[in-house]
Amino acid sequence: MGSADFVLMINLSAAGLLAAAFMTIAVYDTGRVSARWLAFSYLIGMAYFAIEFIIPAFADARLPVVTAFAVFLAATIAFNGGLAHKYGIKPPWPPMLFFLVVASVAVYLVQDLPRHALTRMMAYQLPYAAMQFAAVGIVLSSRQRRGRLDYLLAAVLGASAVQFASKPFIAGALGGWGANPQAYVQTGYALVSQSLGTVFGLALALLALAVLVRDVLNEATSKSETDALSRLFNRGGFERHAELAMRDAVRRGVPVALVIADLDHFKSINDSFGHASGDRVIATFAGFLREAAAEHHVAGRIGGEEFAIILPGTNLAAARLFAEGARSAFGALPIEGLAVGYRCSASFGVAELNADEGFSNLMRRADAALYEAKNAGRDCVRVAPNIPRRVPAGKLSDKG
Ligand code: GH3
Ligand code: MG
Ligand code: MG
Repeated sequence: MGSADFVLMINLSAAGLLAAAFMTIAVYDTGRVSARWLAFSYLIGMAYFAIEFIIPAFADARLPVVTAFAVFLAATIAFNGGLAHKYGIKPPWPPMLFFLVVASVAVYLVQDLPRHALTRMMAYQLPYAAMQFAAVGIVLSSRQRRGRLDYLLAAVLGASAVQFASKPFIAGALGGWGANPQAYVQTGYALVSQSLGTVFGLALALLALAVLVRDVLNEATSKSETDALSRLFNRGGFERHAELAMRDAVRRGVPVALVIADLDHFKSINDSFGHASGDRVIATFAGFLREAAAEHHVAGRIGGEEFAIILPGTNLAAARLFAEGARSAFGALPIEGLAVGYRCSASFGVAELNADEGFSNLMRRADAALYEAKNAGRDCVRVAPNIPRRVPAGKLSDKG
């Protein structure tokens, strides 16, 4: 077995392992269509390496060579389909499949050209480069929020495209790609080309895998941090995100306030109108909170009928206004399933972060203020006394 054969065997095994990895994600998360297409892409990749392996056994290698070309191109097309699903873009199947046919016919037609003709070499490599550039387009045209990993994937796809387009020149520099397909696998170029292909192929596969795993983990975390009834953060989610928002505010030197709300006499709402109506009140209050909250606010349902919202960039006075507004607006909200004219209310506790204070102490003081509001007869707002941090002038915001 020649060294290029050996590389082929390694590639075939690697493609199999990658197909298995993507399949594992597809099985774990059946809704993730992208994982299925990526797994399929690496299965096609295995077929390609198997064909390359047996090419030297053919006396007339034209058909297997064109087949190998088409099969590898099909693998890059399936890869692009998987990427398109991942990045929320409709996979451009018709143009990609049309391209597959045209490129395969072109490769068939250049078979009679001299082996080292540039046209012939380009007919082999440019379609691969085109598909990798198309993949860059898929990643970059996505409307999803992209992270560093996505940009890295786009960059490696771009580099891979350039690598394919420059292969004819690499072949020229290394003394060509053999007098015939059978001789190709024994050339130095075959070794370099296949090694480059392995490096790029592995890098792309691992990046695509990392992107999918990141998405799966993000979605699992977000599910575990979301409360189904209110569609707000649950207690754990709220605490994590609120603390991050609080630290960010501290770092930026802006004030940060916390409002805690508890629905009044909720037990009697359940008793009088039923649990389902009680749920509707919770959902209504949560929806109202979601609408009142700005993008940089963090709102959560931290208990049965208890809610919290952290307001970065907001001082005590502004947070109190926010709570007063929420209190009076919620009181006026008609809720389906309750008696006509029945008015729900909530009590609010407000606190602003003190100098050298931690999140749990801020929670405790807001909770104490809420307790005071309950004792004062409910349907009102109480604020916790505070020692304001020194906030630079111009960083106070009353917008909330
Ligand atoms: P207060 O004004 O002092 O807050 O009185 P309250 O009745 O609101 O407070 P209490 O803590 O005594 O009762 C809260 C009730 O909320 C008890 C519980 O059955 C109900 N509850 C908790 N979670 C849910 C839920 O998801 N759905 C419904 N419908 N009720 C819930
Ligand atoms: Mg209550
Ligand atoms: Mg309560």
